Formats: sequence, C-alpha cells, structure tokens
Amino acid sequence: MWDTPSPACPVNRVSSQISVPSADLDASVPPGLTCAEMAALDTLRSPLAFLQSRLPEIPHRNILQAEEAWWKGEGVAISNAIDRAGTPWLRMFDRLGKRVDEILYPGEYQTILKRGYRAGVVWRALEEKSLIPAYLLMYGISFHDPGICCPYTVSLGTAVPLAKYGAAELQSRFLPQLTRHDDSVWQGATWMTEIKGGSDLGAAVETTARPAGGRWLLSGEKYFSSNAGAELAVVAARPEGAAAGVRGLALFLVPRYRENGELNYFIRRLKDKIATRSVPTGEIELKESEAYLLGSAGAGIYLILEVLNVSRVANSVVSVALAQRAMAGALSYAEERVAFGKPILHHPLLRHQFENRLNALRSAFALAWESVRLLNEVWMERPPYSERYHLFRLVAHLAKYWTAEFAVDTAKWAMEVYGGLGVLAEYGAERWLREAMILAIWEGTSHRQILDGLEVMDRKRAHQLLFRRLAEIAPSEELQDIESQVERHLKLPPDEKEALSEPLFRKLAILTADTLARETK
Ligand SMILES: Cc1cc2nc3c(=O)[nH]c(=O)nc-3n(C[C@H](O)[C@H](O)[C@H](O)COP(=O)(O)OP(=O)(O)OC[C@H]3O[C@@H](n4cnc5c(N)ncnc54)[C@H](O)[C@@H]3O)c2cc1C
Repeated sequence: MWDTPSPACPVNRVSSQISVPSADLDASVPPGLTCAEMAALDTLRSPLAFLQSRLPEIPHRNILQAEEAWWKGEGVAISNAIDRAGTPWLRMFDRLGKRVDEILYPGEYQTILKRGYRAGVVWRALEEKSLIPAYLLMYGISFHDPGICCPYTVSLGTAVPLAKYGAAELQSRFLPQLTRHDDSVWQGATWMTEIKGGSDLGAAVETTARPAGGRWLLSGEKYFSSNAGAELAVVAARPEGAAAGVRGLALFLVPRYRENGELNYFIRRLKDKIATRSVPTGEIELKESEAYLLGSAGAGIYLILEVLNVSRVANSVVSVALAQRAMAGALSYAEERVAFGKPILHHPLLRHQFENRLNALRSAFALAWESVRLLNEVWMERPPYSERYHLFRLVAHLAKYWTAEFAVDTAKWAMEVYGGLGVLAEYGAERWLREAMILAIWEGTSHRQILDGLEVMDRKRAHQLLFRRLAEIAPSEELQDIESQVERHLKLPPDEKEALSEPLFRKLAILTADTLARETK
C-alpha cells in the first residue's frame, strides 16, 4: 500500500521561497500521502498559508502577505547575516570621552526592525483596540526571525500599561512616540530581572525608588535587560519603606534621557547569547534615574504580571511560528535528500512523523491562539479581575509552557531530519534550535509556568472554567478523567503537589491543545 504512487495533485500548492530549495511542486506527492495530506503539509512553507488554514478570518491579510513576500525576498538574508555577526557592540564613550552608551548594530538591522513597527506591531493595538493584528504580525515575522519579535513584544509591553495606568500628562508626553507609524517610533523595554534571579522577583529586586517632587528617582541594577537602549522602559522597583516580597514592588516608566538631556540610565555591558543575537540584552545601571509611577505603588505586582501576560502570549505565538519554520525547512530537505533509492520523505517512518507533527503543530497553535483570544478579551481589565481573566491566566501558563517545549522538541527533530548537515550553520536548522532554547527560559521558565498554573487552579479554581470551555467543544471521558486527576492533585500536601506537578500539567496542556484544535476551522 505504501509504495503505490499518488497521482500528481491538481491543487494549488504553496510555493517554497525559504532558504532551502524545495522539490518540484508539480511532481507526484509522496507515496502513501493523498493530495489533501500533501496540501496540508504544504501549508508549512508559509506562515500566512498556515494561519489561513487555522483561522476563520485574518484581519489585514494584505499586510501579512506583503510582509511575508518582503521577508522571503530580502529579510531572511539580512536576518541570517545579523545572526552570524553575533551580538551588537556597545560604544560607551564618544570621541571626547563623554558617556553615550550607543549600541552599534550590523548594517541593516534597522531595516528589518522598523518594518514591523511600521506594519503595526504596537500602534495597531492601541488604535484598533485589539491585540489580534499585533500577534498575527508577530507570527508572520517570527517564522523568519524569532528574535526580532522581542523588541516588538517589550515595546507593546511598555505601551499597554502606559495607556492603561499612566497619568494623563504622562500619556500625552510619551504615548504618541511609542505609537508613531514611521521610523521615528520610540521603542520600549520591560526590565524586572536582577542579578539574584528572575523567578523570585519578590526576593531578588533590590532596585529602590525614592519620591522626588512629581517624579521618582530609581537606583539599582537590572541584569537581563532586552532592548537595552530603548527610549522608554517599564522597570520594577521597591519604593522606600514598602513591604518586602512581591507586594512591595511597583512599576515605573523610565525614559532613556533625563529632562536635562543627559543619559538617564547606563548600559554596563551587552550579553553574548546563543540566540536572539540581533537583540541587545544588557546590564542596566540606574543611578537616581528619573522615573514615573504607573498606577498605584500598592498594585505594582498586578501591573508587572500584566506586562508579563503580553510577553508570555507573544512567546507562545513565536514558539509555534518557530516550530513551523523548523518543520518547513525539514520538509524541503526531506523532499530533496535521497536515501535507499528515494527521497527520505517517501519513507514511511519519516512521512508518518511529518503527519503527526503537523497535527501537533495545529494543536500547539490552537492553544497559543486561545491565549491570544482570551487576552484580547481581558487586557483592559484592572484588579479585581473577572473569572474570564483567571481562565486566561491558566491558558496562558499552559500555552507558554507547552508551545516552548514543543518548539525545542521540534527544532531538535528538524535538525535530526537534516542528519549531520543539521549541525552546520549554513543549513539553518541549528539556528532554530538555538532560538527555541531561549523561548523556554525567558518570560518565566517552564517550572514557573507549571507552578503559577497550579496556583491559579488552587486559588481561583481556573481549571473548572477551563473544563467547562473544553466540554463545550468535545465532552469526553478523557476530559472527565483528567478533571478528577486535577482535583485529586490539588488536595495533595504542598511539597508533593509541586514535586509531582509536571506530568499532570503536561497532560493538561496537550489535552487542552488537542481539544481546542478540533474547534479551529
Ligand atoms: C535572552 C534573555 C533575555 C532576557 N531579557 C529580559 C528582559 O528584558 N527583562 C527581564 O526582566 N528579564 C529578562 N530575562 C530574564 C528572564 O526573565 C529570566 O532568565 C527568567 O525569568 C528566569 O530567571 P533566572 O534566569 O534568574 O533563573 P532563576 O530564577 O535563578 O532560576 C534558576 C532555575 O531554578 C528554577 N526555579 C526557580 N524557582 C523554582 C521553584 N520554586 N521550583 C522549581 N524550580 C524553580 C527556574 O525555573 C530555573 O530553572 C532574559 C533572559 C534571557 C535568557
């Protein structure tokens, strides 16, 4: 049965313009695959084609299409060159020895960076009052360059709390710059992590804030600060005299320049990272830096978590796009590479793996997109939050956890499809693995997602909301079974509950993803 050749397919198949040339698309589909199955695999080659296969409607489709064409024509080559060039350089002093902290980028970095801002990764969210266009753009762009979505995410993560919680004077002073449609747009950044660690912010944040007239002065050091050099950053700090732990933290807006035009924060050095190499991640020194409080000091932890919501959802979207990109490369390669007398894609084991992984990709996308959809409903809520918000939190933890794990696993698998060539930089597969490793760590590691997911189930009963939602799509015994497992698990003694949580959380993530995927299209 496997060796019966399939007929040439009369359907329009997606053409491949990605870096590895594809096989002749008019050729017969591999034996054992129907035309429909091959057409489904073809959607891997284009982020827009995949999105169209998953979503009933795509706002601004023409913009996504134009961006994709540009990336395939020009952007990918620039992105690859930037990745190979490594970390940007920090020029700390000018010719006269004055501190300038200027970041020097490889030639065309600004070309790829500014395109996304112009297309609307930030301004559309505020003008159209919807996060959907921003996350669709991020999907399309990160298929080609996952790192470049970091500046977009943190800029969005700066604009949103400013628009929600900033005093009117602050908004009129700064918001127009963050939402410009041209290349003069300002960038944002979200700096919480300090040298003692990013998971336990309550214990690790030592940056202090002192009131000074109508503003505050911040002093301290931020250890992992992406988009260093941004014109505005949102920064976690503890006002003098505030409580210990996370409850005492507040969120501040910190401009790059002081009111007198001097540098307001300093970049001590840039990190040499395995991936997201185009993004400058630095160590930041705050020395009586001028800052403006967002919201009230007592509610700071909620604002910090809301900033993280924006970036965790972005991380999920980017993870799925990266997994798709890795699979697209592997598909093109498997069509070309011959072993035992035929292209490796024609061998039953590999073909079966492609089909299974495509289904898993669709499930991962459904989970990530559910987190987008829910965030889009609740992003303007303020504490105390609705039930819907707690459901969003659980889905966001499941999505951040599972999509990042899936991206790493898929990038590793894609590298194996390339065989030995997969470890060579010129084939690209090793880059996707490097990029994927970061997705599982920043914005809260997988451990953090599991533990925070447990917390929202324990304290807000968010799993009951989730099971209600999933039962609307596909009631099943499996669903009832896992519901009782979760209830039993939540009654365990604290240490046991944490220690044994990963297999259950993984199972819950996969079941949620698979169920949601049934609803898509
Ligand atoms: C490329 C890059 C860019 C970044 N950019 C930014 C940025 O712009 N702004 C920013 O604020 N941060 C940034 N970060 C920091 C990032 O958010 C942190 O790395 C992350 O939150 C984890 O913190 P940590 O690295 O200090 O690990 P730690 O908090 O020290 O944790 C170490 C390990 O212990 C585990 N762990 C901790 N607590 C528990 C527990 N209770 N149970 C089980 N395991 C636990 C963690 O999961 C992790 O595996 C960036 C990180 C990277 C890699």
